[in-house]
Amino acid sequence: MANVERYEAPESLPELTQILAEGPATMFAGGTDVVPQMRVGARPVRPTLININRLADLRGISESNGVVRIGGLTSVADILDCAFLKQVASVVVQAADCFASGQVRNAATLGGNICNASPAGDMIIPLLVLDAEVELASWRNACVARRRMPLCDFFTGPGKTCIEDAEVLAAVQFPVPKPHTVGRFRKFGTRPALDIAVVSVGLAGVKENGCFKDARVAFGAVAPTPIRGRNTEAALVHVELDGDRISDIAQVAEQEVSPISDVRASAWYRTHLIRELMERMLHEVHQTRD
Ligand SMILES: Cc1cc2nc3c(=O)[nH]c(=O)nc-3n(C[C@H](O)[C@H](O)[C@H](O)COP(=O)(O)OP(=O)(O)OC[C@H]3O[C@@H](n4cnc5c(N)ncnc54)[C@H](O)[C@@H]3O)c2cc1C
Repeated sequence: MANVERYEAPESLPELTQILAEGPATMFAGGTDVVPQMRVGARPVRPTLININRLADLRGISESNGVVRIGGLTSVADILDCAFLKQVASVVVQAADCFASGQVRNAATLGGNICNASPAGDMIIPLLVLDAEVELASWRNACVARRRMPLCDFFTGPGKTCIEDAEVLAAVQFPVPKPHTVGRFRKFGTRPALDIAVVSVGLAGVKENGCFKDARVAFGAVAPTPIRGRNTEAALVHVELDGDRISDIAQVAEQEVSPISDVRASAWYRTHLIRELMERMLHEVHQTRD
């Protein structure tokens, strides 16, 4: 931190985006990724350090005209406690429930989890299956300009995204899920708590009369970025789920991921886990009434 020359803690989006427009800076929200990364030298510390935690406008969960909006500074703890999300998009709450410890959840933000762009980021998977978009804000022509893009196009590699230096992730939004939407998130770690996912799986879709009318599937920690499972989605829709079909669909999931081996798990084990989690998830969904 020795080379930090300027510290800013703006309280509004215009203030923050104007500071960002002045040149590259190191920005942090909860700091649960940035601080450990800076400590071990995995992240260069720029001369300007910006604490964005005071921007109340970027915090909170709301719904308007059939669209759910979660501010970029909303904490994982706030997501876990949100009765509205539990009711309409429980898959996001399920992921928050698997996330770290209470202490980390209080500090960690949704925007930080997305912008850190870990292939294993827990909150990304449920948002991918809800067809979420990110809203990015910057200072243009003397006012705050906003652009949106699908979350599935946002990631370009491990730790890399399409966000520009002068932009902040203001919010994430997704359509209110249709009636009869089923959502599930499963994560496998080497310990039950406080562990980064070895793999994770998300599923959301409208299920009626034992069939998915539509389905979205996403996988974490099996590719350089979190990914959608398009082949698994295609295999899942308009088929009546039974033991054989579930096994076939889990096999499609297994075949569409190509993870690497690293310190936490071998490629073989990760692939096997994807099949196992998918199969268990589908059996559970099958046994749940529409
Ligand atoms: C003990 C421990 C346990 C953890 N467990 C988990 C876990 O179970 N699952 C999991 O997914 N992660 C886990 N993490 C990682 C981390 O907590 C999350 O990724 C968290 O959501 C990051 O949010 P933050 O607000 O702390 O981000 P920060 O560390 O403040 O920032 C992370 C990155 O995002 C950028 N950023 C932050 N907010 C914005 C914004 N609004 N717009 C643009 N850029 C932004 C920052 O500049 C930085 O590049 C864990 C970390 C620790 C230390």
